[in-house]
Amino acid sequence: MTDCIFCALQHAQATLLDANELAYAVLDIAPIRPGHTLIIPRQHVEDFFELSAEVQMAMLELANRLAKALKVVCNPLRMGMLVSGFDVAHAHLHLVPIHDVHDISSKVLLEGGKLRMPDDQLQQLRGQLHLQLQGPPDELARN
Ligand SMILES: [Zn+2]
Repeated sequence: MTDCIFCALQHAQATLLDANELAYAVLDIAPIRPGHTLIIPRQHVEDFFELSAEVQMAMLELANRLAKALKVVCNPLRMGMLVSGFDVAHAHLHLVPIHDVHDISSKVLLEGGKLRMPDDQLQQLRGQLHLQLQGPPDELARN
């Protein structure tokens, strides 16, 4: 799918937060909270629940690694994760550092309370997380 932003984004090395053979992660540019991360399969499948278990596990492996880094860097009360699928028609997980029970409910979205992260802040946060992850994704993880 050449017109799918998530199919294209996996090749934008500078924006990748983490990656493995089957999936990659980026910071959401319109986060619920700073550190809101999207975990995206490299394969174009619209529905998370239509992905193979192997791909789902690869996504969860990234979620586990990133949750540990996000806890240190963003200091949330909890880490939240959800699948909604209403925004981009390419399966993805939302991994969100949450500070309030409504951070992961639909309240923030419905009330238009999502943030807009400037590029320099995204870059700074990505750098902090790469430090926690001990480096950006290596060449082997690229497709
Ligand atoms: Zn796609």
